[in-house]
Amino acid sequence: MAQTKIEWTELTWNPTTGCNKVSQGCKFCYAEVMARRLQAMGLEKYKNGFELTLHEDALKIPYTWKSPKIVFVNSMSDLFHEKIPFEFIQRVFAVMNDNPQHVFQILTKRADILYEYHKKLNWTHNIWMGVSIENEKELWRVDLLRKTNAKTKFLSCEPLLGPLTKLNLENIDWVIVGGESGRKPRPIKEEWVYEIFNKCEKANVKFFFKQWGGTNKKKTGRILNGRTYDEMPVTPALAEVEMVF
Ligand code: SF4
Repeated sequence: MAQTKIEWTELTWNPTTGCNKVSQGCKFCYAEVMARRLQAMGLEKYKNGFELTLHEDALKIPYTWKSPKIVFVNSMSDLFHEKIPFEFIQRVFAVMNDNPQHVFQILTKRADILYEYHKKLNWTHNIWMGVSIENEKELWRVDLLRKTNAKTKFLSCEPLLGPLTKLNLENIDWVIVGGESGRKPRPIKEEWVYEIFNKCEKANVKFFFKQWGGTNKKKTGRILNGRTYDEMPVTPALAEVEMVF
């Protein structure tokens, strides 16, 4: 497990590492940069760099956390990557099922594989399932997520690279929005953010504004409408986590 600066979670847990790019949102993949850096530093877990790698040992980690946590699963990979055997995904789910005191947030761009497997997985209330959407071309991912058996469903619209005018929020619980940061960020437009925000308000969907992004994300910050938006779904599992905070 690792502490993280990602605003909408508390810890990261990576039972697999490595991935490969599937769409525009992957262009400046943070996980790839980090994996290569950690490989160069000689970390055993990253000896394969950004090659897809399974980590059996990591399956034990959630059993060691003393208090309830909010956990981003596979910040350094994609749990529904085509090279991850279904049996391994089932084992990751078994760990999450065994640990209802923690909230596990899974995010994928491979909504087709998620959809293929979803009926065979045990969606306990502590598993939140999300898809990343960077532009309208990828809205198919939301349509497949909507049809899954996951109890809490969310979208990460980061890096937001275009308007999502046709976004349908039916059966979606939470939306995270953020602009790209880094050395050559692709620009976000205010009107894209406001459009998603208005859709969330209308549909009563929780809204989390992560950042405007840019080359200096600290400077551009995360203020929208004169305030920050840190909303999260209220689920039985999250209530349990918050009681001990
Ligand atoms: S799917 Fe995610 S982890 Fe994989 S390359 Fe794209 S951004 Fe990186």
